[in-house]
Amino acid sequence: MTTSRKVYMETLGCQMNFNDSEVMLGLLKKEGFEPVDNKHEADLLIVNTCQIRGSAEDKAFSYLGTWGKLKAKKPHVKIAMAGCVSQQNKDAIFKRAPYVDIVFGTQNIHELPELVRKAFDGERQVLAVDRQKPRSTYDYLSDIAPVRESDISAWVTIIEGCDYFCTYCVVPYTRGRQISRAPESIIREVLQLAANGFKEITLLGQTVDSYGKDFEDRQYGLAELLYELSEISGIERIRFMTSHPLDLTDRIIDAVAELPKVMEYIHIPMQAGDDEILERMKRGYTSQQYYDLVRKIYDKVPNAAVTGDFIVGFPGETDEQFRRSVESVAIADIHAANTAAYSPRKQTPAAIWEERGQEISDEVKQERLQILNEAIHRQSLRKNLEYAGKTVEVLVEGKSKRNPERLTGRTRTNKVVNFNAPYSEDELVGKLIQVEITEPLPFSLIGNMVVPAEAMPVLQ
Ligand code: SF4
Repeated sequence: MTTSRKVYMETLGCQMNFNDSEVMLGLLKKEGFEPVDNKHEADLLIVNTCQIRGSAEDKAFSYLGTWGKLKAKKPHVKIAMAGCVSQQNKDAIFKRAPYVDIVFGTQNIHELPELVRKAFDGERQVLAVDRQKPRSTYDYLSDIAPVRESDISAWVTIIEGCDYFCTYCVVPYTRGRQISRAPESIIREVLQLAANGFKEITLLGQTVDSYGKDFEDRQYGLAELLYELSEISGIERIRFMTSHPLDLTDRIIDAVAELPKVMEYIHIPMQAGDDEILERMKRGYTSQQYYDLVRKIYDKVPNAAVTGDFIVGFPGETDEQFRRSVESVAIADIHAANTAAYSPRKQTPAAIWEERGQEISDEVKQERLQILNEAIHRQSLRKNLEYAGKTVEVLVEGKSKRNPERLTGRTRTNKVVNFNAPYSEDELVGKLIQVEITEPLPFSLIGNMVVPAEAMPVLQ
């Protein structure tokens, strides 16, 4: 393979997809491909797809449509589709978009170099979509060298798939059943990250706190992994997401409380505040159990921030049931939440209920989304106001996008802080500093770097 080939990647969906894309680019780099930001320069175009909502799937096919036209002018270009849409649609994608050269699934990432070689050798319609591999796709890679977006913070996938089968979700059908990555492989990757100067890692999984439940040869879970990773010098901050309320054990919460390197931030989707809806979603807990769990976290981990996710317009959701979701934001006392209008996904029970007359109109979904977002907005501001006048630890990421005069970073609780500092970006990026919060806003905090008088730079 020549060293002059270029690859362009579009990624849709969750952090796990973004991490998969980084790994794919790393694999292709070893094959001599150079990642580029301009699709017109590329010899290989890859879209890493998401199927969680219809809009993301439509967007993936719209990329393919545009790329098909590009390929008509430059026939040597190869087009690949990865991710959850590939996993579910397999060779049907070749029928819908015949100019696509490679379709590969979420469990075939490690095979990408071979698939690309075949396509460039002239093989048509290269397909690799396995239903369920016996090991995590990451465990097939002895040496993971992703092309990462950041030089400071890295995502590390530790578990793929999900065993829960919530009635609205496609993940168990697209990413398959839960497979935990071997701890040795995770520790190897994190040691490498530390050696390369990374300061923060976020352990990823659809249900990250069920990590290890599928191991047959050992008793080892997320808590044990957190203790081991905390020993790695150079890594200053460890996060994990997304948690499931049924898997967040006392042992994990205790690890967060005990380990200084594990951040006091937990993202646990609630999805609905009404018990009947929760039952129909097959979430496995009641609203009260969710409230009790959040309370337990706040009791055991002082200064922790819990955030959640909500879906509005689930099939059959009444005004009263929706109202309970709005109320639950303040009752649970969470710091923030992501929201989404319910989007029917093929194969799932909820999509069938919607077809059978329980559909909530788009107009009502949008109205409910707005009401819920306003409630979350108020709650986020209320929680952020608690930071006024406090001094917090911030890991500096770079210049603020909104105001380039300021720098930006995150607190231990994952809040964005934009701050004034008497140092340049280069002097502070990647450092842990103290910032006094002067102005809490609903979705970020503003402050000033705290500099001991003896360390103040002499201004010319
Ligand atoms: S736990 Fe999460 S990933 Fe698993 S089925 Fe439910 S919503 Fe989907």
